[in-house]
Amino acid sequence: MNKIMIPCRNCKGKGELSHFKHVEGGRCFKCNGTSQECVNRETYESYQQTLNRADNGYTLFNNGLIEYYKNKKEIEAKYGIFKCYDYGNCSVLASYRDDNILYFDISNDDQHNKKMLTEINKEFNLRKRKKLLNEIRTIEKSVKNTKDIEIKSIFKSAILDLKKELNFLETCVQ
Ligand SMILES: [Zn+2]
Repeated sequence: MNKIMIPCRNCKGKGELSHFKHVEGGRCFKCNGTSQECVNRETYESYQQTLNRADNGYTLFNNGLIEYYKNKKEIEAKYGIFKCYDYGNCSVLASYRDDNILYFDISNDDQHNKKMLTEINKEFNLRKRKKLLNEIRTIEKSVKNTKDIEIKSIFKSAILDLKKELNFLETCVQ
């Protein structure tokens, strides 16, 4: 009653075991080479769970935007090649062309997924902040070195804009 067929878990649905080739041609003893096995509902459900576990996919972070992907091929088709990379405290895969494009495996542990995203956002804001401060510093130097009043005022309004952005960023970080 209630028996369900799934791919044999012993030979992973192949019907044979390559490392037992010398015994009866490697035929799987569990499924007798049929590559299927009959299981009850309980086993079937736990089998489905392991399948889902292996196929959770990936969370991709692109400069603050989140996307989800089922496989790496899709990601690489869109963003090119990735490298192993430490982004703050997180080990991720980051794009060669932009460190702020990165992805990681979705875990079964939801808390872990949330923590990863929090850490990544924190690091992203930290880097953005550093970049803004650098830009402000560079423009401030230019203001000092310029005699032209008109150019000076253009620089100054650029600094104001950057400072606004910086303030906004700091309210987000908390
Ligand atoms: Zn088998």
